[in-house]
Amino acid sequence: MEYDISRFFAQSEGMPFSSRKATMPWAGSAPIDRSIIQQQWNDLQQLDTGYQKTLLYLHIPFCETHCKFCGFYQNRFEINAAQNYTEFLLKEIQQHSQNKIYQQHPIQAVYFGGGTPTALSTHNLSIILQALKNYFPLASDCEITIETRVSEENKEKLAACFAAGANRISIGVQTFDTDIRRKLGRQSTQDQLLEFIDYLIKLDQGAIVCDLLFGLPGQTSEVLAKDLEWIESLQMDGVDLYALNVLPNTILGKSVAVQRISIATFEERQQLYLQGLKQLTEYNWRQISNSHWARNTRERNLYNLLIKEHSNCLAFGCAAGGNIGRWSFMQQRELPNYYQQVTQNQKPIAMLMQRPSWADKSAAVQGGIEKGFLACGRYFNAEELSILTPLFEQWQQSGLCLYQNTSLKLTPKGRFWASQLLNALQQFIFLKAD
Ligand code: SF4
Repeated sequence: MEYDISRFFAQSEGMPFSSRKATMPWAGSAPIDRSIIQQQWNDLQQLDTGYQKTLLYLHIPFCETHCKFCGFYQNRFEINAAQNYTEFLLKEIQQHSQNKIYQQHPIQAVYFGGGTPTALSTHNLSIILQALKNYFPLASDCEITIETRVSEENKEKLAACFAAGANRISIGVQTFDTDIRRKLGRQSTQDQLLEFIDYLIKLDQGAIVCDLLFGLPGQTSEVLAKDLEWIESLQMDGVDLYALNVLPNTILGKSVAVQRISIATFEERQQLYLQGLKQLTEYNWRQISNSHWARNTRERNLYNLLIKEHSNCLAFGCAAGGNIGRWSFMQQRELPNYYQQVTQNQKPIAMLMQRPSWADKSAAVQGGIEKGFLACGRYFNAEELSILTPLFEQWQQSGLCLYQNTSLKLTPKGRFWASQLLNALQQFIFLKAD
């Protein structure tokens, strides 16, 4: 079959591509019929996947505020609801953790995401962390991350999390600029933020990292430069720097749709990314992935790197999602449905999907692109490389990569457009397998 590889070429003038597509982790996956989910799940529990890096994800679906840009808000935090949820989460862990799939390989990284994990009480966070140690074979260097947000009471909670075994705290900062934070629905001020981070860093118990966004409404290049100055002067261990993704169903997305708020163009976002990358390079931070930098070796960003390669991810909690071998699953999104299935001693799965065989190659390529380097000879045979070489050469001419000895190394500009490059390669893998 003939492949018109030129359809993946970058544009020769202006921006290389007219859009930045999100990567679709479940592309090509087929959901199985609901009536056989539990049976299939029971079979998966005994599956020998061969050695694979294994991760654990716990979802805490409560937030104290509803941030305007966020598409992950689920439930308003209430003390009793959070207490009840903790009991069900522990029950779910106890019900399933002794099955083979949970015990066969050391767990490399654990991630508490949400929502806001630190919406739970100090006691509940500690007993969940203790349960993980009791029930799972955590690797001796297991990375254990807790996502959090700025608040006075979270200081004590996070100190307790460190004492209970957590070793990495990820703070949703977005920007240090108080006015822009307020417009996003974040109430804490710059001073509170600085004081909170400084407190955590001085505990000196683990990596302290944060998320920064670029392309926020009202964010100038000076604001971004100042944000990066703050993380350097605070001596943070790592930073995730990525573009604001305006989702249509968010408060921000609706304001953008009626043109009450305008957001940065692709050109402006590319400029901000290149500016951020340059500044972090000047600070001698190490780029671990297209969107993540580490200041030192304490920060590994292990969970986020391994999840992009489709490592096994054993997930617990309402609305959690995970992978086992070629299977991906999403748990119940609504709390009543989640509680009902846990009460019935069932894994609370809403959707179970099987990925096609070509998805393994696609995930491996994604892992390489995410790190900015792809040893193409490892993933593509001679015939495939002969088709792809004109594409790689065209990308090189467009300033997106260097292509030498069948290896692709992304330039800073290529890293900004990485999702587009990946999309092209994934489509090629799919077409070739079809
Ligand atoms: S950004 Fe975090 S705290 Fe804000 S609504 Fe989303 S999940 Fe909740």
